[in-house]
Amino acid sequence: MRVIHFAAECYPVAKVGGLADVLGALPKYQRKAGITASVVMPFYNKAFVQNNELEIVYEGQIQQGHSLYDYHVLKERSDLLGFELILIKIPGLLDREEIYSYPDESEQFLAFQHAALNWLCDTNLRPDIIHCHDHHTGLIPFYIENAKQFAYLKGVPTVATVHNGQYQGWQNWDSAALMPAFDTWRWGLLDWNGLINPLAALIKCCWAYTTVSEGYLHELYTRANGLESLFKAEQDKSYGIVNGIDTDVWNTLTDPMLNHNFSQAAVKKGKEISKKNIGEQYGMDETLPLFVFIGRFALEKGADLLVSVFESIFENLKGQANFFVLGSGDKNIEASLLKIQKQFSQHLALFIGYNEELAHQVYASADFLLMPSRIEPCGLNQLYAMRYGTVPVVHATGGLKDTVIDMNEGGYGILFNDITVSGIAEAIQRALQHWNATDQKQWTTLRKKLMKLDFSWEKSTRKYTELYNKLIN
Ligand code: ADP
Repeated sequence: MRVIHFAAECYPVAKVGGLADVLGALPKYQRKAGITASVVMPFYNKAFVQNNELEIVYEGQIQQGHSLYDYHVLKERSDLLGFELILIKIPGLLDREEIYSYPDESEQFLAFQHAALNWLCDTNLRPDIIHCHDHHTGLIPFYIENAKQFAYLKGVPTVATVHNGQYQGWQNWDSAALMPAFDTWRWGLLDWNGLINPLAALIKCCWAYTTVSEGYLHELYTRANGLESLFKAEQDKSYGIVNGIDTDVWNTLTDPMLNHNFSQAAVKKGKEISKKNIGEQYGMDETLPLFVFIGRFALEKGADLLVSVFESIFENLKGQANFFVLGSGDKNIEASLLKIQKQFSQHLALFIGYNEELAHQVYASADFLLMPSRIEPCGLNQLYAMRYGTVPVVHATGGLKDTVIDMNEGGYGILFNDITVSGIAEAIQRALQHWNATDQKQWTTLRKKLMKLDFSWEKSTRKYTELYNKLIN
């Protein structure tokens, strides 16, 4: 079976968040399961493309409105990722450093989808399944059924995976002039409330859609940034398939990004040394329990609540715990975190920015991972944290609820329902009570239990395969 994934991110080529991690792992595990999986993504001018050999396998042209663009299809030559990686380069449009946030982002993703399909048709490449991820690739199922120039692909089953339903790629209808010619009678498939909505088009036109956890699927029926009724109306073709983690990348024994590698058996010592390293670098007492937050500073992640939580904790529990925040995003949140960090520098470390290596080191050093997410489609941080022997303290929502069992129910984490400053502070206090009441031996047992949990991709890969087979047959 030949599957082509279309996505905006793929680890380690270009990553902003969990979307990249999934695209860097799922196709690899699919190949191990006998599926020929490729990833087709835009070309970004990042370290990966500078440091690896890429070969041009096709060159073509697309007309986008009044602009004629040359495009190059590049293939990574050494099978570095464990699956075929294809990059679509369009000089002037898809050859920049960042993945998102350009004012002409809509044109970039329109051109990406157009060129990618053009290449498939021109080279007679008709996969068994086309798998689209999030709104950046949301027009593909519409195009292959309704744009004459892609008729060669008509009838190929399409799967959509919703990694994040908050972002939908809205465009006003002027953008239609930039699209390849399509059957205008079918315009309604692109529309949602008077705008072109690529995520809505994806859900309407795909053969099946999946979400990255079962819990998130049900949440979308009531909270999907305006698309609730659509997700509900299309629920007969919906599936919740939880993400896995790449256990080759996330392995404390072999992870090259760690300063100190350790096995499950040596977790106590391993985490002590890792925490000492971080403590020395950031001037924090390594004997105190360490809580960490890693992620985008966005409302979804509850990052806006962190400063007030710290104020409350430092007022009541100062001297009992340390915190590490790694992330970036909303500038107001960044500024207020910088301010409070200066005030409580002995107990709060802050790294503003994206740093993959530091993230690995922080997961390995932490005693607790704090995830006060308001919305969490799957959440990978808690999975990585657990794999690195860290206890998750998470809001009971979406994928967090699906993957973390509370200690009070015989589990291994702390789940809280109240997503307010006091609710989060209480959860931290509960975590500290456990820390204080548990002796070192029991704590080590808990860490080993966490590290042994099975969140590998094999199970989820099987579920995707079942879905593909169902659609093909
Ligand atoms: P998202 O909604 O951002 O995709 P996920 O939990 O699914 O959230 O995935 C987040 C991924 O991004 C994880 O691999 C996490 O370690 C990583 N990450 C987030 N912020 C940072 C950062 N500032 N530096 C390094 N890694 C980060």
